[in-house]
Amino acid sequence: MSITDNIDAVDSRIRSACQAVGRAPSDVRLLAVSKTRTHEDVEAAMVAGQVDFGENYLQDALSKVERLAATWHFIGAIQSNKTRLIAENFSWVHTLSSVKVAKRLDTQRPDHLPVLNTLLQVNIDNDPAKSGLSVDDVSGFLAGTRDLERLRICGLMTIPARAQADQITDIRAPFARLRELRDSLRSDYPDLTHLSMGMSEDLEAAIAEGATWVRIGTAIFGART
Ligand SMILES: *Cc1c(COP(=O)(O)O)cnc(C)c1O
Repeated sequence: MSITDNIDAVDSRIRSACQAVGRAPSDVRLLAVSKTRTHEDVEAAMVAGQVDFGENYLQDALSKVERLAATWHFIGAIQSNKTRLIAENFSWVHTLSSVKVAKRLDTQRPDHLPVLNTLLQVNIDNDPAKSGLSVDDVSGFLAGTRDLERLRICGLMTIPARAQADQITDIRAPFARLRELRDSLRSDYPDLTHLSMGMSEDLEAAIAEGATWVRIGTAIFGART
């Protein structure tokens, strides 16, 4: 299967998942996760019409960002000494979880670029091994970042724990919790329109619970080595 075929297959999974729950396919956007992939792979996806790409590792990302006029999303862990390069080179950040980082990104976002779109990463399972804000810390975070002008917080993002093969788990449950959290905050924070959730294995469950961005690597580019 080529990258083009894979994107077509992912698009039809997204359409079917939307149809199953009565959502408009245009409400769900596909983020192609290109971490560890070559710029040739990204170019092949661009030729197939893909616009948005997600990267986790800044150094690996920058050579692609410089070369290719795509829309770039940062989806990795953010070290505070790397915020300037993120503010200068990305349109979206899905992994905001520190007020200090938010303030730095706001200050460092160049004036000639549009406002930086960001999503708060939420540790929806309270998994000690995962990064992200705990559910209880989200509203305090939003209150502490209301004044930022060059950074817009437009939704929530999560990476749920992987379901164990031997356990009967409801894979929709963590996605439902993120949606409920977003809905509970939306009257105070109307910009919170997005939910970034769902990857290659669970995009259907995430779409059923309201994902507006699905982040897909393996199903587009193949298994990572
Ligand atoms: C790698 C990665 C993905 C893509 O995962 P796949 O299972 O390959 O689709 C999505 N989101 C984040 C944050 C990632 O790091």
